[in-house]
Amino acid sequence: MIELIPLRIPVPHQANTFISPVLLCSGGELILVDAGFLGQAHVIKKAVTEQGIDISGVSKIVVTHHDFDHVGSLCELQQLTGAVVMASAAEAPFVEGKKKPLRLTQLEDLFPVLPSGEKEGARQFEQLLKSIQPCKVNQILKEGDAVDRAGKITVCSTPGHTAGHISLLINETATLIAGDALVWENGVLQLANPQYAEDIAAARDSAKRIREMNLATIICYHGGVCKGFGKEQFQIG
Ligand SMILES: [Zn+2]
Repeated sequence: MIELIPLRIPVPHQANTFISPVLLCSGGELILVDAGFLGQAHVIKKAVTEQGIDISGVSKIVVTHHDFDHVGSLCELQQLTGAVVMASAAEAPFVEGKKKPLRLTQLEDLFPVLPSGEKEGARQFEQLLKSIQPCKVNQILKEGDAVDRAGKITVCSTPGHTAGHISLLINETATLIAGDALVWENGVLQLANPQYAEDIAAARDSAKRIREMNLATIICYHGGVCKGFGKEQFQIG
């Protein structure tokens, strides 16, 4: 049986908004899915400790994709735990700092046409993106790969939000850790920031694939645990 603990980590500078990295326990193996914003290692450590779990027991960190709110504290958490870092082949070069993050490229493209009142905020965001420490990816994941030794947690390729975005499927409980393939907000499952999707058609296809999976539970990084939903909750265009 897989034990699944969604963490509730506050979004910096945003009241009452949370992200949900997930802690998985499979046959004694501790796996963390996604790693919060920059500077949140201690917050995540505290949330894990509050569950009665020692964070140094985390042996693997799975990254759903390279966005700043998912890898912000990856480097620090890896150093804290010595965990093996896992990501898809398309995301790994971004996580490792070998490619410029998608959001930075988008920001640079947008910057010249931004109204002057928004430039300062954009510069701060640019600084944030540039401050994130790269982290070596130790294991590349692809569709169908198991991330745990017991083989009960498998990779589900859900590209679109970014090119190499992955989700994790726990078949025995029909649970999907969806990362940013979907967000759960106001009773609706929808695409995360569709205007910034790397490939909006692929993002829609991934969301449709999830809709057809007959899941009992979807855990969205933004919105947390979603249960008891029907197909009508999917508003994915
Ligand atoms: Zn996100």
